[in-house]
Amino acid sequence: MATASAQQITERIAGLQATLPSRVILIAVTKFMPPEVIRIAYAAGLRHFGESRVQEAIEKQAQLTDLTDITWHLIGHLQTNKVRKAVEHFQWIHSIDSLKLAEKLDQAALELSRSPQCCLQVKLVPDPPKYGFDLEELERVLPQLDPLTHIQIRGLMAIPPQQASEETVCQVFREAKALGDRINQAGFANLHIEQLSMGMSGDYPLAVAAGATMVRLGTTLFGPRPT
Ligand SMILES: *Cc1c(COP(=O)(O)O)cnc(C)c1O
Repeated sequence: MATASAQQITERIAGLQATLPSRVILIAVTKFMPPEVIRIAYAAGLRHFGESRVQEAIEKQAQLTDLTDITWHLIGHLQTNKVRKAVEHFQWIHSIDSLKLAEKLDQAALELSRSPQCCLQVKLVPDPPKYGFDLEELERVLPQLDPLTHIQIRGLMAIPPQQASEETVCQVFREAKALGDRINQAGFANLHIEQLSMGMSGDYPLAVAAGATMVRLGTTLFGPRPT
């Protein structure tokens, strides 16, 4: 299977926009895709784009400077040595997976006079290869995340394990929704979970049913990624 044609991409985007609830932001995941693919999705009306790697995104952004109203989302693991670049090049960072990373982002945001919106990446069922806070860890660090006021912690990102059953996938999404509600009810000054970033090509209908407000879709829009 090859990358989808411009017409296919345009039709798929229109179809999705017609069926997703209006609260849901469709983030087009364009990792490994060339800038031309971003232009096609932009022309079809999308303004939110997700990339996994900082350097790859910067290279594409340099070729898309005429598209000034794109919101860029970093969805992949962020190494601490790339934090400044991430803050400079992304409005949203979905992948805060440690207190240390959150603190470094907060410091960079202060120094660069930015205020990126962020999600905490959570691991709600055991998934050793994946990054993210498990529940116990997250509950322990919430009081230390709350004083970080240069970043805006506004959401949770939840990704079910790769081969999870439909039941487990639903459990992960339901628990993410419940966790967001609990954090909001705990009365923190700065932690406001307004967004649930959950749902990829294989599971987004389940995520939307569970309350997702951001879906991150690559394959279902563009076809398989070039390797
Ligand atoms: C690649 C990626 C996606 C998109 O995956 P598809 O299955 O192609 O829709 C979404 N979220 C994250 C974190 C990703 O790395």
